[in-house]
Amino acid sequence: MKKTFFSLVAVLMAVSLQAQDKVTKAVLEMGRSDNQVMQHAEYMARNIGGRLVGTHMLNHAEDWVIQQFRSWGLDVQVQEAVVIGVGFDRGPWSGRMLSEDGMQLHFGTPAYTAGTCGRQKGRVLLEPKDQNGFNRIKGALKGAWVLLETGPDTGLALDASPKADSLRAVALAEGKKVDVPYYRQMVEAGVAGFIRPAKRPMQVLYNRAMCFKLTMETLPTACDILLDEHQFAIIKRKAENREDFQLEFDIRNHFFPGPMKYHNILATIKGTKYPDEYVMMGSHLDSYDIATGAVDDGQGVCVTMEAARLLAAAGAKPKRSIMFCIWTAEEYGLLGSLHFVKNKTVPWNKISNYFNRDGGPLAATSITVSPAMYEDFKTVCEPLFDYNPEFPFTVHKWDEPRPRPDRPRGSDQSSFAVQGIPAISFRESDVYGHNFRYRDIWHTEDDLFNKLIPAYLEHSAVVQAVTAYGLANLNHLLSREGLYKE
Ligand SMILES: [Zn+2]
Repeated sequence: MKKTFFSLVAVLMAVSLQAQDKVTKAVLEMGRSDNQVMQHAEYMARNIGGRLVGTHMLNHAEDWVIQQFRSWGLDVQVQEAVVIGVGFDRGPWSGRMLSEDGMQLHFGTPAYTAGTCGRQKGRVLLEPKDQNGFNRIKGALKGAWVLLETGPDTGLALDASPKADSLRAVALAEGKKVDVPYYRQMVEAGVAGFIRPAKRPMQVLYNRAMCFKLTMETLPTACDILLDEHQFAIIKRKAENREDFQLEFDIRNHFFPGPMKYHNILATIKGTKYPDEYVMMGSHLDSYDIATGAVDDGQGVCVTMEAARLLAAAGAKPKRSIMFCIWTAEEYGLLGSLHFVKNKTVPWNKISNYFNRDGGPLAATSITVSPAMYEDFKTVCEPLFDYNPEFPFTVHKWDEPRPRPDRPRGSDQSSFAVQGIPAISFRESDVYGHNFRYRDIWHTEDDLFNKLIPAYLEHSAVVQAVTAYGLANLNHLLSREGLYKE
């Protein structure tokens, strides 16, 4: 009797091990022969593009992600996380200098700043330095473009909020230095817009306080232009020489009444034995909109989606649930993931680990974990060690835990880490030496599809799928011993 029982257990164990191997094997094979990560990325860049919170395109992207997950057979939960009162969509923009030595202008405008009413021509004035300076140009300001020296820019919009106005007024009254002291006076005099110098590649962001407090009655009216610093220097020289020339801009920044609602998309492969325990991975769907957000964080979303597709297609039925999280509003302060964690959408003690992917389009080639997790990761990642000889995967033990962050920062993993939830991510590397520098892409006009490195993304999708599946099949959650330095 006893003997039969043990052999039955042995057979069952063998069956489950075999099943696991079958799924992992299928993922590894499909990862080579039918990896679709670049198809997702192309759809995201070509059909969708920039996905700023407030835009219709972010809603369109959500619909697409939901539909993809459903078509692969995953359970999809759509969680409303952010509401913004006024929507903003961007059309094309162009500008030129009208003179004998005229040129096309290379510029951008932060999100939620004013556009023009069609092509708008105007003279160029220099920012007044004091009250006398303002008085001297006040009659010429209507319809003019004003060059501001307030740089170097950070890509943020000029603060046009009432609070900023009162700070400027106070500073002026007390004779203190402040950026653009005559901002409100110039707006009231009817300037067409302000122009600041910008470094290349250009960063064009927003001003968070202004976006969320905006109403259709308080829309900005003066344009806020960040112009290539080399062109800025040429134009400034001409203005200083009082040359007769004009600039013409056509900027299609459109506002519309909301509320606009944005969501976390939570796709799950349900666990068979511990369905309320989770291995999680995620990336953020929102992006800046001067480019297409192909890297930040389109590549992360596409890797997460492909990991889900590979596992679903391989028929994965893990013991524990695997959740694929596509966050919203990361760029506005991790709003989506914070909402998820604070609401305990998944109880904090039921999360084995959350893997975040939000960085360069690089290859996941290693992971560094706590000594208490080390053996589990070694076992689970074993199929990856020699999967691709060009990207040997390695598991490392850390010498010392990192401190637990005291507030959320960086990216969505920190929404988890501040609560003491394991949120260890893979380490990524530029194996082929593509001279990759995140700074060149991050939040800039160069965050484009052509910056993606297909082999790296394909490999990373396999790494994430195999690791998550292995962890979901353990008989226990990952240990939290020695996870954070308290
Ligand atoms: Zn990001």
